[in-house]
Amino acid sequence: MFKKAATLIALSCVLALSLVMGGCGSSSENAEPAKQASSEMAMVNSGKLTVASDFQFPPFEYMDGSNKTGFSVELVEALAQEMGLEANWLDPIKFDTLVPLVKQGGKIDAAVASITINEERKQEVDFSDPYLDSNQGLAVMKDSNFASQEDLNKAGVKVAVQSGSTGEAWATENLPNAEILVLDDNTAGFAALQSGKADAVALDLPVMQWMVKESYPDAKVIAEIPTGEQYGIAVSKENPELTKKLNEALKTLKDNGKYDEIHKKYFGN
Ligand code: GLN
Repeated sequence: MFKKAATLIALSCVLALSLVMGGCGSSSENAEPAKQASSEMAMVNSGKLTVASDFQFPPFEYMDGSNKTGFSVELVEALAQEMGLEANWLDPIKFDTLVPLVKQGGKIDAAVASITINEERKQEVDFSDPYLDSNQGLAVMKDSNFASQEDLNKAGVKVAVQSGSTGEAWATENLPNAEILVLDDNTAGFAALQSGKADAVALDLPVMQWMVKESYPDAKVIAEIPTGEQYGIAVSKENPELTKKLNEALKTLKDNGKYDEIHKKYFGN
């Protein structure tokens, strides 16, 4: 009896849904019901994908005025929707604290900040499947005499990097004679370059290219370094089900063209 009544209620809900936007239950903004139950995933806030970034890395994740935007932001919105969750972005958090925050648990479900998947970080957190390939680059001011990696590997040359980044690790290892200036983010790096406090910056090539083109036209890229990095979403080792669901959703978005659509919007191809 009760079962029958419940079925009837559910059916009338579906009918109502198809007649009016909104309908029964909680998803009043989104007429499409959750595709998968999210209950087996231990989310920080139920029904939400609580996610953090530094928003200092255009075109992947950055602030456009007070708006959080970028390739990865849109990708995560689409992933969350695919998983029946709502993406909830925290305000910007410094890059080198993101992986520790995921590891610590309780505050965020995932960190999305163009984080290169590497062995060191895999000791601390799990990663989704890779969602983007990247490399390192070196930039200097257009009016400088530095033209190559070798030119920078000299005593007295200052190279700015972001704290905790693969750019920092690369520069420390490959420019042993230079002085490495470890700064909070790449905006500070480019500011140091412009003011003459740094002679060069080392960071992920696509971001470097974007920043030079959009914001620092008096700088130029002098080297592309094929480090073969891949970005992944960092998830707690305590939440393997979330990593699994993210991977399934990522595969779906790659198969159905949504990933390509977002990629094209930001990279033109
Ligand atoms: N991909 C680089 C890293 O993982 C830089 C990421 C970033 O600065 N957001 O260290």
